[in-house]
Amino acid sequence: MAQTYVNENGYRCFSNSGKQVSRWVAEKKIGRPLKRSEVVHHGSKGKGCNSKSNLTVFKNQSEHMKKKHSRR
Ligand SMILES: [Zn+2]
Repeated sequence: MAQTYVNENGYRCFSNSGKQVSRWVAEKKIGRPLKRSEVVHHGSKGKGCNSKSNLTVFKNQSEHMKKKHSRR
């Protein structure tokens, strides 16, 4: 298991590359590399949970905010 740390936004990242673990897991889930514009959303288990079932990929930040973070 690679070394990881939690960044200032609360997301777990790999120590060697700085890549978010959630993005890496999402790439495994969809079977291709994520584009830079694509956003990984964490579901009800929160941003500490990087299991495939907790992650959803959106094509850009505005789709992400529209679908999952509508104003409260
Ligand atoms: Zn989100």
